[in-house]
Amino acid sequence: MAVPQNKVTKSRRNMRRAHDALPGGNPAECPNCGELKRPHHVCGACGHYAEREVLAQSDEIDLDDDAA
Ligand SMILES: [Zn+2]
Repeated sequence: MAVPQNKVTKSRRNMRRAHDALPGGNPAECPNCGELKRPHHVCGACGHYAEREVLAQSDEIDLDDDAA
């Protein structure tokens, strides 16, 4: 099995990992509410996708509807 010839110090290891962070992504503006959202994803703020509502927001659901 291959064995590292030299110890990689914490400093060197951390310097190598300085470039490991993931990029922020490419946010797109929601056509309905203007909030920034991930492209090709349902808007997390208003639940719209392709300018129509596909997800009801929790504040729009009437929980008292099924009360007997
Ligand atoms: Zn939206």
